[in-house]
Amino acid sequence: MAHLETVVGEIAAEMSARAERGTVASYIPKLAGVPIDQFGIAVTTPDGAVILAGDATVPFSIQSISKVFTLTLALGQIGDELWKRVGKEPSGNPFNSIVQLEHEHGIPRNPFINAGAIAVADAMLSGHQPREALGSILRFIRFVSGDEGVSMDEDVARSEKETGFLNTALANYMRAFGVLQHPVDHVLGVYFHQCAIAMSCEQLALAGRYLAFSGRLSPGGPSVVSEERARRIAALMLTCGHYDGSGDFAFRVGLPGKSGVGGGILAIAPGKASIAVWSPGLDRHGNSVLGSLALEHLAKAMRWSVFAG
Ligand code: GLN
Repeated sequence: MAHLETVVGEIAAEMSARAERGTVASYIPKLAGVPIDQFGIAVTTPDGAVILAGDATVPFSIQSISKVFTLTLALGQIGDELWKRVGKEPSGNPFNSIVQLEHEHGIPRNPFINAGAIAVADAMLSGHQPREALGSILRFIRFVSGDEGVSMDEDVARSEKETGFLNTALANYMRAFGVLQHPVDHVLGVYFHQCAIAMSCEQLALAGRYLAFSGRLSPGGPSVVSEERARRIAALMLTCGHYDGSGDFAFRVGLPGKSGVGGGILAIAPGKASIAVWSPGLDRHGNSVLGSLALEHLAKAMRWSVFAG
């Protein structure tokens, strides 16, 4: 098998030379100014090794990758009750689509489209103030990444709030159906701030370990969630983690992954690695162009696929 460090280094070199990089998200003004010429990759393995290349230590806005962590927390808080308010099916629609919500009586298709993540944020507010919910999100991410330095970028949160008309529409729509139980501005306050968490590939790969290693920070190490929960979250990442690009990602990469419009992707090779890649240029679905390509190359070289025997 190819040597992981060599493969990671080669991928970073190849990605930095690529001309076709997609376009940086511009609908959140603060993200529009992020230089497109960056690429980072971090891979953590069961033995505790962390392999870094490119801009792996540069923090970026994790955006929708945060939805994996809030889903984990909401399931911990209210368990399977959550599935009464949000579905588990791929949407086949863009991440901010409103059309399906009307047909489905305000119940979002899955926890990774915006409407679904907003419903998850609402669930997290049961018995908690927005500040407490945000505190628990940050504490959880710092714990799983083993890094107290992870923080929220207030400027990004404000920038998104000022232009978040679609998300506000989604939230009001769900509130009208009784799917949201808390004030819309509280729910969106949590949602915009969780999206504004800044992390590097290194921190993100470490944070994804519990999903790669059956709910544990390392094989046989401290348990974060049950093995079953980790497996189920990974299943949703595979089927819904890249919105209407999820099928293509599964076809090309074959690993559960979650993208964000900051250009990051967290992917897991169960039992083998937690991987984070970042490049700010996006494709038309809002998924990182070079991030997806890098994962495709890595999965192929290492023969990491949930579909390989
Ligand atoms: N904060 C972004 C939004 O709500 C998250 C979208 C994403 O990363 N796909 O539009």
